[in-house]
Amino acid sequence: MKEPLRCALWKKSTVGLEDLNFESVNVFNKTTHIKRDLFKCRDCGQLYFHEWYEHMDFNHDAYMYDTYIPVETESDIATLLKNKSTADLEKFLPQLHGSHTNDTDDSLHWIRTDADREANIASF
Ligand SMILES: [Zn+2]
Repeated sequence: MKEPLRCALWKKSTVGLEDLNFESVNVFNKTTHIKRDLFKCRDCGQLYFHEWYEHMDFNHDAYMYDTYIPVETESDIATLLKNKSTADLEKFLPQLHGSHTNDTDDSLHWIRTDADREANIASF
């Protein structure tokens, strides 16, 4: 996918939830543990495909993952929707990614390159 060069979020290394000035454009699917939808940046009009995914471990601790992938066209969105699992979305760069548990709430950070992705996986 293309880098969202005109979006102010692109220039930040970490993005807090308070930085997201988004409006909801569409909801593609929503279940208890996964939600996929489309947001538009109110500042610049950039579209972001979003996935929220919740994983419960054996202790019923919840791990939640947010992924925002900048998109431009209907065809970009169709491509992402064809990738059914969260793991399948990891290959689409750049993406804004964040993880949360019941106790922590990380800010989002950009995964811009394969090296960033490997560093991100190593941090889990
Ligand atoms: Zn923007």
